[in-house]
Amino acid sequence: MTRLIFLGPPGAGKGTQAQILASALKVPHISTGEILRTAVADKTELGTQAQAFMERGELVPDPLVLDLIQERLVQSDVKPGWILDGFPRNLLQAIELNRVLHEIRQAFERVINLHVPDDAIIVRLLARGRKDDDELIIRRRLEVYREQTAPLIDFYQPQLVTIDGNRAMEEVTTSLRHLIVAT
Ligand code: ADP
Repeated sequence: MTRLIFLGPPGAGKGTQAQILASALKVPHISTGEILRTAVADKTELGTQAQAFMERGELVPDPLVLDLIQERLVQSDVKPGWILDGFPRNLLQAIELNRVLHEIRQAFERVINLHVPDDAIIVRLLARGRKDDDELIIRRRLEVYREQTAPLIDFYQPQLVTIDGNRAMEEVTTSLRHLIVAT
């Protein structure tokens, strides 16, 4: 069983690393950011409601995100495990995730905290150039991270492992593989 939660600031490389690990472990990579971006592109009800928040670098309201994650975690492909990327992002989401997991009798094994200092993040995100990667919005996303998401590092202390994300992508992947094998 592989159930992992990726934690870390925007641009830490969560998406890239979660994707690589998920395909190596043959479990779905569940990125709330990706699901939301697809919803925006498809102009679904969820996308229409989420778009303005995403463009400002704010969190999408909890009820929307909680609904989507709850639906995703009961689909049949997640039975062998999953890697969560970008969720939970605040304390309420973390508490709700615990509740949902308890309900469906699942548990996560580890929370991986990808650590990258702010100055490196800003350089990376500016280079990435996604629609919400404008410098002011990046700064807002970092603030939101610090205020709302970083407190989860304490919340998840017993299951938390911090990995230095400020290295070449392959080096980070190697550390993660070692960690998984040791789990
Ligand atoms: P990054 O990690 O680079 O910020 P993501 O793809 O994880 O990128 O998220 C992009 C945006 O999607 C966030 O800025 C936020 O607006 C929204 N989002 C993603 N996940 C969540 C979540 N769990 N709760 C609220 N909003 C979310």
